[in-house]
Amino acid sequence: MKSAQIQKLRIFLDRLESDYQHIEFLSSDPLEFVHRYSNPWDQEAVALLSSVLAYGNVKQIRKSIDEALKRMAQISDSPKDFIRRLSEARFEKKATQVFEGYVYRFHSGEDILQLFQLIRQSWSQYGSLGDHFLSLLQPEDPHIESALIGLIAEWRDWTRPSVSKYFFHLLPSPQDGSCCKRGCLFLRWMGRKDQLDLGLWSGPSPYLKSKNRLRPNQLIMPLDTHTGRISQYMGFTSRKSLNWKAALEVTETLKKIDPVDPTRYDFALARLGILNICQRSYRKEICHQCQLQPGCQFAQKSSPGLLPSILFSH
Ligand code: SF4
Repeated sequence: MKSAQIQKLRIFLDRLESDYQHIEFLSSDPLEFVHRYSNPWDQEAVALLSSVLAYGNVKQIRKSIDEALKRMAQISDSPKDFIRRLSEARFEKKATQVFEGYVYRFHSGEDILQLFQLIRQSWSQYGSLGDHFLSLLQPEDPHIESALIGLIAEWRDWTRPSVSKYFFHLLPSPQDGSCCKRGCLFLRWMGRKDQLDLGLWSGPSPYLKSKNRLRPNQLIMPLDTHTGRISQYMGFTSRKSLNWKAALEVTETLKKIDPVDPTRYDFALARLGILNICQRSYRKEICHQCQLQPGCQFAQKSSPGLLPSILFSH
């Protein structure tokens, strides 16, 4: 892509970001639940819970996170307290009763409690999830791939053998080829800071023991059905399959636009899909209002002659 094209693309994406990167759009995102807490251990635990459940319909995702948090609140003062006390046999029994009947897609309350046990073990061995992840990330790593592989491998090793096979669906690894949208989303929330993302692991955080930090330019774009197809429409990737290689390719394109903070447009791009603005067909009344329309190859193909892409037509 030529530098003039990069400049134009940046203008379109900046306009999209200024339309959607606002706190009022949090109610359409699982990140909203993390903002309910101010303690960093609560925040990282709720962020992990919210991100691993972030697949499928956004209303159902939010309902399932809300329900898990309400069940925890029945027997504890905070998510941190609930998770720490899972080391006590009597409390674990109560927690099992509280999560009886919890279901989200393939997952039962047993899977959620297993996830909390992994968080508890990370806290007990490293101090925090941040310290666990940062122990696996090298400052010279170009991106989070090898640290994410290491974290998931360790968690898989710690998982109780009795857990259902569906539990592992919560923890995909780049090694499986998956785009790992949920892991990348969790890391975006922790690794960049603005009014929406928390940046707990990227800046001064007194709760972390590690001196190491996660840089925003080590993050990988969380590709899901919305950001994936819009990335394809915009030519950020030529891959048909939304796998790990596609996530790397999209991130590399976005790094040309913003080398310091390539995932900063993720939230805004995702709104086009989550809010059902960008539909899977060309809609003149919508596409003509869309900030991305001048560079959208899909819109151009669907309406030849009407919408020449100023990005890719020369
Ligand atoms: S121009 Fe239309 S198809 Fe392209 S991203 Fe915008 S809404 Fe979607």
